[in-house]
Amino acid sequence: MKQQTQALHAGYEKDRQGTMAVPIYQTTAYEFRDVQHAANLFALEELGNIYTRLNNPTTDVFEKRFAAMEGGEAALATASGMAAIFYAIANAAEAGDNIVCASQLYGGTLTQAAHTLRRFGIEARFFNVHDPDAIEKLVDEKTKAIFFETLTNPSIDVADIEAITAIADRHGILTVVDNTVATPILCQPLSYGVDVVVHSASKYTTGQGLAIGGIVVERKGLAEKLASNPRYPQFNEPDASYHGLVYLQTGLPPFTLRARLSLLRDLGAVVSPFNSWLFIQGLETLPIRMPIHSKNALAVAEFLQSHPKVERVNYPGLPDDPNHALAMKYFKDGMCSGLLSFEVADFETAKKIVDSVEIFSLVVNIGDSKSIITHPASTTHQQLSPEELEACGVKPGLIRLSIGLEDPADLIDDLKRALEG
Ligand code: PLP
Repeated sequence: MKQQTQALHAGYEKDRQGTMAVPIYQTTAYEFRDVQHAANLFALEELGNIYTRLNNPTTDVFEKRFAAMEGGEAALATASGMAAIFYAIANAAEAGDNIVCASQLYGGTLTQAAHTLRRFGIEARFFNVHDPDAIEKLVDEKTKAIFFETLTNPSIDVADIEAITAIADRHGILTVVDNTVATPILCQPLSYGVDVVVHSASKYTTGQGLAIGGIVVERKGLAEKLASNPRYPQFNEPDASYHGLVYLQTGLPPFTLRARLSLLRDLGAVVSPFNSWLFIQGLETLPIRMPIHSKNALAVAEFLQSHPKVERVNYPGLPDDPNHALAMKYFKDGMCSGLLSFEVADFETAKKIVDSVEIFSLVVNIGDSKSIITHPASTTHQQLSPEELEACGVKPGLIRLSIGLEDPADLIDDLKRALEG
């Protein structure tokens, strides 16, 4: 099935009513036929619904559809993108371990890695996404994951995915990649050797800024990389918390299974069935929306580049952008999504522009069909130190735009007024 067809059909088998729209199974729990049935489900001898913290038929469609669109084997939906990132990392690493992360990350991810994971005993070591060779010096036998974003938010850099996966594979380390900004429509990281993809579904997936959610997608054949790999005893040895289950002996996708049975069960950041349903609606039009976001963003980037008050524009679709070659290599038809940023002289100039626009909304979100403007230094990245800001490329005069589906001429007029007002 092609991706555009998957977006409409994958993962859903109509019920007896022939319901065209995926039903919302708004339920906490499911009746077992009898005690034996319940016991079989808990022992994984039969697969089925137990309790919505573990699984739900609406969420199941969302997971299967997303996994299909990413070209993956299985997926686990979560209550937020941050939960998806945490579960993916906590599934790979534990106290005493370390992960190697790109410095150019979404601010919340940076804070989770640098501060919160540290409180759980997991150290984050950072490399510049433009220098994948630096990873070699950071990895040791305790390194359990290499984490990066395909298209970074807000610095708008493009990762050299194959260069990073080659290093990870040499060391038998899992790669975990946030593909939120590119979406599976523009880039399928699993096809370039990535092991696990995470997303904030709160962005382009819903497409209309309707709900918070996340998803973790596992690649096909990941079991082979994990099998007998000394870095990952948790998949090879009995899990005492699940009556001695060995995830790699189940024949099921091991990464997703452990994230569900151990992390989702015990930590509980489960997505609501209603939100899964909203994400399913969003996925239906994702293949149609992403080319328009990309086309509009390129038009706005070209305008900004020509404006004297703009010192720099970061958009990989521009031929002279330092990320252009990588974008042409990894992104479908060179489409670069709707996120761009630009720099003006200083904090005050940026503030004035953000306060003057009318069509753009001042919102800390991206991926909405309506255009959004953000000033990272005063909002999403406010908690970072000046050194951390510098490392992730956030300057005081940096403005981030998430270009929506409006007519680009209106967006350009709005920005022109704000820049010249
Ligand atoms: N990853 C990226 C690239 C993001 O931009 C965001 C949020 O802005 C997240 C993850 C976190 O997602 P959520 O807000 O759904 O927790």
